[in-house]
Amino acid sequence: MKKRVVIIGAGAAGVFAAAVCAEMAPHLEVIVLEKTRQPLAKVRISGGGRCNVTHAQFDPKKLVSNYPRGHKELLGPFHHFQPQDTFAWFKRHGVTLKIEEDGRCFPTTDHSSTIVNCLLDTAKARGVFLRLETSVTGITAFGKRFSVQIEGEESLECDTLLLATGSSPRGLELAASLGHTIVPAVPSLFTLNTPTSSLLDLSGITLPDAELTLPQLSLKQRGALLLTHFGFSGPAALKLSSFGARELHACHYRTALHVCWVPSLTKEEILQQLLTLKKTRPAKQLENENPFHLPSNLWKRLLVLEKIPHFTSFGHIADKQLHGLAERLTASPFAIEGKTTHKAEFVTAGGIELKEIDFKTLQSKIHPHLFFAGEILNIDGVTGGFNFQNAWTTAYLAARHIAQLFLNLKMALS
Ligand SMILES: Cc1cc2nc3c(=O)[nH]c(=O)nc-3n(C[C@H](O)[C@H](O)[C@H](O)COP(=O)(O)OP(=O)(O)OC[C@H]3O[C@@H](n4cnc5c(N)ncnc54)[C@H](O)[C@@H]3O)c2cc1C
Repeated sequence: MKKRVVIIGAGAAGVFAAAVCAEMAPHLEVIVLEKTRQPLAKVRISGGGRCNVTHAQFDPKKLVSNYPRGHKELLGPFHHFQPQDTFAWFKRHGVTLKIEEDGRCFPTTDHSSTIVNCLLDTAKARGVFLRLETSVTGITAFGKRFSVQIEGEESLECDTLLLATGSSPRGLELAASLGHTIVPAVPSLFTLNTPTSSLLDLSGITLPDAELTLPQLSLKQRGALLLTHFGFSGPAALKLSSFGARELHACHYRTALHVCWVPSLTKEEILQQLLTLKKTRPAKQLENENPFHLPSNLWKRLLVLEKIPHFTSFGHIADKQLHGLAERLTASPFAIEGKTTHKAEFVTAGGIELKEIDFKTLQSKIHPHLFFAGEILNIDGVTGGFNFQNAWTTAYLAARHIAQLFLNLKMALS
């Protein structure tokens, strides 16, 4: 009789693991159980419908720095399956990926359905059995085997079980019922809410480079920044929310935020430039000079906030005011008050405690033949394709190990 592998969850991790496992070990029966009607639902909507499949960072050491949780554990796995392997795998299956200027990778069709169809077609062609509208309600382990309880249907027994239920609370409950520790979920990758900001009406302004600091939490991130009608968004804000997910949650999303608008210069360097301009061009108007090339409306607003009237020439500005301006340019103060509900690339921090997983195989250290892949693990990345890369990598290693487990057994028996 065929050995049976059951995968719970038909998301990126579950379907990819099924396809890889069925390709490597055609003698296995691979069944995917999915509670909803639609497999790969998040892949479909991801990346604004284009699916940001991975990121063009091919050095595992640099790649792991994009994972606030999981960076240590993913280093080994990325030596076995990293973005280059994602490119190669999809290419072998008829999908070409392209790299955009900022490193994000998409299918050349710019359509997530290309990825969805590729994964589902590959799984189907290899005999994977996908059962939709099949909700798993419980799991019983006996020895190295499992009995999977399904809502309204008969239980299913299997020789290996892979949990790929994403951030679903039910999936985490199933893992907990098998003895695993769950790190509580908190949001990650959200925009910053600063309702009392005096810049809300400047919504839409973008800066290619700014630095955000949470002084009370000792956290800092640099990158492109977008001013919005509720606060701040863009890569710098999202990265900060991701690296500070736990700390921000702990302080109920109420803390001070400092924005440095000219992160390439120190406060001293900025001040020196301003003082030199005052000396060398006293008749010039500060407003028109815009020495740090900030978006004009933002520059004018920063001057207003420093109480420097319109059309004031450099010669008429007191040194004290220039000190104040240098301070504001390097650390404009804002107050984060509450969490936004606007989602960018929403993921959850939290999940299965990583110490309980063997990262060579993605097998549980508690139960033999129990595997995990994807967002169910306490791993999350910043925006840019890193979360899918976690799904592909962990799913690949789990699938490969499952295939090897039974290939070895088959060879031993023959
Ligand atoms: C709007 C949005 C856009 C995103 N865009 C990107 C992007 O462009 N690039 C990127 O890298 N990341 C992106 N992400 C994050 C990425 O989608 C996730 O990290 C990734 O989908 C996780 O894959 P997964 O397979 O682990 O979990 P999921 O995709 O969540 O899949 C889990 C599956 O398990 C099923 N399931 C749960 N419980 C049960 C149960 N009891 N029985 C049966 N089935 C069950 C669920 O229905 C689901 O289908 C985005 C996320 C969102 C929400």
